[in-house]
Amino acid sequence: MLFKPDFAFYRITDIEISFLKKNGIKGLILDVDNTLTTHDNPIPAEGVREWIENMKQNGIKLIIVSNNHPPRVKPFADLLGVDFVCEGKKPLSKGFKQASEKMNLPFDEIGAVGDQIYTDILGANFSGIKSLYVSPIEHEKTAFFKFKRKMEIPFIPKKLYRKTERKL
Ligand SMILES: [Mg+2]
Repeated sequence: MLFKPDFAFYRITDIEISFLKKNGIKGLILDVDNTLTTHDNPIPAEGVREWIENMKQNGIKLIIVSNNHPPRVKPFADLLGVDFVCEGKKPLSKGFKQASEKMNLPFDEIGAVGDQIYTDILGANFSGIKSLYVSPIEHEKTAFFKFKRKMEIPFIPKKLYRKTERKL
């Protein structure tokens, strides 16, 4: 099912090394807006820097693939010390292909993380990349986005994995 994420998390920081190892994921493609921070925010969301550092230390390759333009993507990627592809044209495979080449990893060893069903998840599924859905950090207020989010509802898993759930 092309619109269904393979895995679903509450936040990107809920994705753990043990999960990636278990699923043979050696590299992650990261979306920016509403995945690593709120829309157009130059500052990463809480815990994101630490999460990125932990990934790097554990040998997980990271690359940002965003449909947004260079002035938005480059400074943000530089701040996190992560390579990037902008104007990635998700859900088309162009950006994912470039990312796979840059990481030197085949599609089946890559996971793509993002908050939008019709770009991030559809694109990953279409390319044979594992799709990791995260709940958008903030809900956009424009009518267009509200409509898009409504159209996503049937495909969003009911249960989103949260690290803290383990303690319950
Ligand atoms: Mg996004």
